[in-house]
Amino acid sequence: MKFNTKLIHGGISEDKETGAVSIPVYRSSTFHQHVLGGEPKWEYGRTGNPTRAALEALIAEIENGTDGFAFASGSAAIHAAFSLFSAGDHIVVGNDIYGGTFRLINKVLKRFGLEFTVVDTTNLDEIRHAITDKTVAVYLETPTNPLLRVSDIAAIAKIAKSHDIKTIVDNTFATPYNQNPLTLGADIVVHSATKYLGGHSDVVAGLAVTNDPKIAEGLAFLQNSIGSVLGPDDSWLLMRGIKTLGVRMRVHQENAKAIYDFLDKNDKIANIYYPGNPNSAGFEIAKRQMSGFGAMLSFELQPGLDAKKFVESLQIIDLAESLGGIESLVEIPAVMTHSSIPRDIRIKNGIKDELIRLSVGVEDEEDLIEDIKQALSKI
Ligand code: PLP
Repeated sequence: MKFNTKLIHGGISEDKETGAVSIPVYRSSTFHQHVLGGEPKWEYGRTGNPTRAALEALIAEIENGTDGFAFASGSAAIHAAFSLFSAGDHIVVGNDIYGGTFRLINKVLKRFGLEFTVVDTTNLDEIRHAITDKTVAVYLETPTNPLLRVSDIAAIAKIAKSHDIKTIVDNTFATPYNQNPLTLGADIVVHSATKYLGGHSDVVAGLAVTNDPKIAEGLAFLQNSIGSVLGPDDSWLLMRGIKTLGVRMRVHQENAKAIYDFLDKNDKIANIYYPGNPNSAGFEIAKRQMSGFGAMLSFELQPGLDAKKFVESLQIIDLAESLGGIESLVEIPAVMTHSSIPRDIRIKNGIKDELIRLSVGVEDEEDLIEDIKQALSKI
């Protein structure tokens, strides 16, 4: 099956009991056991739920993995992936990552003895030099949040394999529509499914996928033991969102390209960060490893122009955290999504106070450009 067909018919696309084409919401926390001490397929809702299982089978299939796991949020999925490791283990992590992942690493995981070295994952030598005898994994986002930097997954996975360590990729921005990290050699893919996979800003969820049976066993154990599972209602909602990922991404990307072209020609804009920017460092890699450039872009206004006034002047594009929904969203990472990163580290990593991040939705492109035009005219 090709990608869009898999979105609709992949995983468990029909309820075995009834033939329902929309998998029912099994809202049962426990399941009747016919034999004491037998091995029932369904036992207890944290351990496994048929609605969640259908979602997990679907994400495994569209990420070209063998096993998928659904969590209560993207952060919970990332936490589960890191929880595969133990105190004293060392992980090489990208320097441009979601602020909440930075917080999870620095305020939670370090307290449990995991050690981290932060590198620019677009620079393979930095990764090579950071690997020590204790290193167990490389963790990265590509494209990154919020600077849209692109790292070479295949090259990184090759380095990791040569040291017998794992590669974990947060694929939230690209989505499986554009990029399959497992196919490029990664061992685990994580998602904030709250974003493009859900697609409608109405569910908070996380997913992890692997094609390694040992990792799958570990994730299943952690999912059940830590217990941050996705409930059946949210699993159903997320599955419904995933089914239209392909049609949504096509429009998201067309709109993003049109907005990029508009901003690129506008003299009030100083810099634009977008994987499809032919002058960006990651452009050639993006062309090779992604089938499209996604629909996220960040930019800076010319010095002296008021970013706060600009975002507050937008009328169609919502000033809000999050991304990947059908509605266009704008934010200022320094005071919103990345405010948990201390300013000096944030600035060192290139996230200026005035950086504006735009998640381009599926509205009519002309309306979005008009909205940006009128907000630019106010500054
Ligand atoms: N990864 C990326 C790239 C994100 O942007 C986010 C949230 O914004 C997360 C992970 C965390 O996901 P969640 O908010 O679903 O916990």
